[in-house]
Amino acid sequence: MTTALLTHPDGFDHATPPGHPEQVARLDAVLGALEAFDLMRIKAPLAAEADLLRVHPGSYLDALRRDLPEQGVHQLDADTWLSPGSLGAAWRGAGAAIRAVDLVLSGEATNAFCATRPPGHHAERETAMGFCLLGNVAAAAKHALDHHGLSRVAIVDFDVHHGNGTQDLVEDDPRILFCSTHEMPLYPGTGDPSDTGPHDTVVNVALRAGGGGAGLLAALEEKVFPRVVAHGPELILVSAGFDAHRADPLAGLMLETGDFAKVTARICDLAEDLCARRVVSALEGGYDLEALGACVAAHVRILEERGR
Ligand SMILES: [Zn+2]
Repeated sequence: MTTALLTHPDGFDHATPPGHPEQVARLDAVLGALEAFDLMRIKAPLAAEADLLRVHPGSYLDALRRDLPEQGVHQLDADTWLSPGSLGAAWRGAGAAIRAVDLVLSGEATNAFCATRPPGHHAERETAMGFCLLGNVAAAAKHALDHHGLSRVAIVDFDVHHGNGTQDLVEDDPRILFCSTHEMPLYPGTGDPSDTGPHDTVVNVALRAGGGGAGLLAALEEKVFPRVVAHGPELILVSAGFDAHRADPLAGLMLETGDFAKVTARICDLAEDLCARRVVSALEGGYDLEALGACVAAHVRILEERGR
């Protein structure tokens, strides 16, 4: 048993304008940090249309294809862009998370990390936003339920921003518990703790700028992990954003690299107790390149140790 790493060079072909924080160099930083790791390395496939149609209407996927520029970049919203290679990168991102679910549920891997870009947790049903085009983790959760026949899954999103897209894609499905810890106030402005979804399967935890790892861990222990235990998931999916790091330029939480290892270890504890150690983690944010590489290494080191 082992940890799978899913990635694809198409992730380098999603270009953003100069100075944009969600840049090609992020993937270099992540893959460089994982170079020496002993992982099951898998080329991420393109997501199948049927898997994407569980979370996005066909009209939205067609609109992305129609908006794709033949050269240069096309702006979708204030900070979300398409370049000629963007759909290949995005479809590999969703395909990675979906394939990771297959590997973990078949027992070929104990757990998995998806090193892809662009991220996915801000993409709503019919709206690309916040650097995100497709709901990678939401599509993977639906695949686990509808294709593999699981009854319950949980998503833990520790990116510093609220996972509004994932919430939009899964909150109608009571089989999915969605938990997001995020700094407030901060982009995208949603994720108030009073927003618990139509089936009370959404757990939003707001953190104040300036808070560190102890505060995040306490919030997880008090507000998130008991809900995960009560939900009884057969698989835990993780939206692994590393932009709560103190060096990150986009937010004000003050986590150290080691805090991400602690959070990962606690998620692995839960997976051990609840779901045969099955964890599928997908990269979301993280915009200081040095911190991003260090945090991904700390995160995957724990997955690797706990996946043996
Ligand atoms: Zn983020």
